[in-house]
Amino acid sequence: MRILLMGPPGAGKGTQAEILGRRLGVPHVSTGDLFRDHVGRRTPLGREAARFLDAGELVPDRVTTDMVRHRLDQPDAARGFLLDGFPRTVRQAHALSAILSARGEALDAVVEFTAPEEVLVRRLLARGRPDDTEDVIRHRQRVHHRETVPVLGHYAGLVRTVEAVGTVEDITARTLRALGLPEGVSTR
Ligand code: ADP
Repeated sequence: MRILLMGPPGAGKGTQAEILGRRLGVPHVSTGDLFRDHVGRRTPLGREAARFLDAGELVPDRVTTDMVRHRLDQPDAARGFLLDGFPRTVRQAHALSAILSARGEALDAVVEFTAPEEVLVRRLLARGRPDDTEDVIRHRQRVHHRETVPVLGHYAGLVRTVEAVGTVEDITARTLRALGLPEGVSTR
């Protein structure tokens, strides 16, 4: 299964990706996690990315795309992946199409999580990551509307919309239903 998880910051993509990844036996690939790992290890990429993360700005497309291409080349991603946080711009979507077609692969589905902005902001303030101050959160929401919402147009026909309000279990069940997968079976 090759699935994209899309939706605004705070929609719970990472939480659902962990659960779905275990169910489906494919890795959860989060560009935010990959960047934070680089920042933590102070790699050259991490030193370049840190100021964008802190400001709630997008890391430049070329840097991000190279990082994703490298991650998808790892053996665990050969049979599928859940991509969380990429593509976030139309240019990244074109780059992903090129990466996949070079591998002779295609996406199976795009899951779009939706929730009202006030719910998103409340969740992120409660999470309290270093880039979760109210100003940076509001800025990330604006960047999402401007840069990432248009990406959905690139995937017309593949998009399944899931309302990301309620308990984690409810949202998992809705997502599995949207993907046409059985709800009860766990591969854990
Ligand atoms: P959130 O969804 O809460 O904003 P993420 O962990 O997905 O959190 O992303 C955190 C930060 O990582 C973003 O604000 C941005 O700086 C950077 N980032 C993540 N994915 C991308 C991407 N595809 N392109 C550019 N920057 C990205």
